[in-house]
Amino acid sequence: MDDFKQMYDEVNNCIRCGTRLILKEDREHKERPHCPNCGWIYYKNPIPASACVVINNKNELLLVKRKLAPHAGEWALPSGYIELWQSPEECAVAELEEETGLVGEIVSFIDFYTGYSPIYLRTLSFGFLMKEVGGILQAGDDALEAVFYNQEELPDICFWSHQHFLRKINYIK
Ligand SMILES: [Zn+2]
Repeated sequence: MDDFKQMYDEVNNCIRCGTRLILKEDREHKERPHCPNCGWIYYKNPIPASACVVINNKNELLLVKRKLAPHAGEWALPSGYIELWQSPEECAVAELEEETGLVGEIVSFIDFYTGYSPIYLRTLSFGFLMKEVGGILQAGDDALEAVFYNQEELPDICFWSHQHFLRKINYIK
């Protein structure tokens, strides 16, 4: 718990009125930064993300080489953070197209995974099995490469959440 309190160190002022925040207990007796002027409370929660598992008819897995931190230059499933206006499924469809050029549909929900993030401390990822229904495979703006990999020759996959989803469907051990 104390580890998690440190995450408030970087937040000093109310985003509504600019007053210095004070750490005190809310109604549920959980300590959070409060604004003594306007009453705004800073809630920090796991950041939600969606990841796409796309396997083609040769049983190859779609992976992207990441351009950006964390894990720049390493391989991962197409994935991204859920925007305020998106459902987890909508985010998965949008990220797949942004990162790989492929248009996809959700086949099924695989699982969720609570992970660690060096940037946001905690993430909550949703994994979806998807199928390709259109588009042309091409790496998008935040990917260096987008490739279907043979199951026997997969590179290391950098996120535990993505490894978890692939294990859950018995694609990797
Ligand atoms: Zn305020």
